[in-house]
Amino acid sequence: MVRSADTLPDLALSRAVLDRSGIERRDGGLVARLLADPATRVLELRGDRAPVEGEPSVASTAPGELRLRLRAPTAEDSGRLVLFAGRDGEGTAYLGVALPAEGLDRAERGGGRLPDEDGWVTLRQAGAALGDRDAGLFTTVLSLANWHWTHTHCSRCGAPTATAQGGWLRVCSADHSEHYPRTDPAVIMAVVDEDERLLLGRGPQWPDNRFSVLAGFVEPGESLEAAVAREVEEEVGIDVTDVRYLGNQPWPFPSSVMIGFTARALGTSIELDPHELSEARWVTREEYRTALRTGAIHRPFGISIAKRIIEHWLGQTIESVMPDSSPVQG
Ligand SMILES: [Zn+2]
Repeated sequence: MVRSADTLPDLALSRAVLDRSGIERRDGGLVARLLADPATRVLELRGDRAPVEGEPSVASTAPGELRLRLRAPTAEDSGRLVLFAGRDGEGTAYLGVALPAEGLDRAERGGGRLPDEDGWVTLRQAGAALGDRDAGLFTTVLSLANWHWTHTHCSRCGAPTATAQGGWLRVCSADHSEHYPRTDPAVIMAVVDEDERLLLGRGPQWPDNRFSVLAGFVEPGESLEAAVAREVEEEVGIDVTDVRYLGNQPWPFPSSVMIGFTARALGTSIELDPHELSEARWVTREEYRTALRTGAIHRPFGISIAKRIIEHWLGQTIESVMPDSSPVQG
């Protein structure tokens, strides 16, 4: 991992420590063997939720405060979607067992509620409070499960596909074509003008006080830097230069990796694309701090790279601006 003062270390969802054991996946008997081994640790997902030990609460933000509740394999698991997540330093194998959101009732699925009494939580709720192994495990299993749920059929011929290689491949039952899990890159950028003001935008569906840095998907055939420049030009009509990498983290909601940048604006006059944004504005650091404290601008979400990008510009954490408020989970 690249670490320097110019990049963002320890992003909440970039802390994976398991060895992904890519070569071992090719062993066709691997999953059956691991399911028969009581030493295998299983993370069960129900929809987008995983079980945690301890006392989950919205105030949980320190890494290690929560632990995933892992279990041994059960007889039912062999009929489920089983995903090989890799091994830890001691050689212990980790599997994800994913149950689709369909078939779970609404209460089980949650949908942004606080953790329920049995301690089933979403990655947005628990991500910042999990230790490195668990944050990476949850992120990987959720990413992979999200792909499987939406790629049950062949994109060439429409026939059903079946999982292979521990969940890292699907193979078409008719033409035997191979389909690999995909990740959609998105860029997210702190656009700053010559007075060090930050450009913030508000999406059309967002509440009046929710603002964030601009972001967008990378298009086919496009470099990351070109995507940054294009998105800013499209959304606010501003040309940028000096696009520099800041950091990245997987964002499995459902299947992205968010790649953060800074960029220097060549002008400050905003021309909004109303389809992308309903409002955009420049803020100084002092204006941003004041807006956070008064609630004029909602604080950025807990595990988002947007929060870390804004903090990088601000030169301090959001918590240090608002020490008395409880964290808001993203
Ligand atoms: Zn096919």
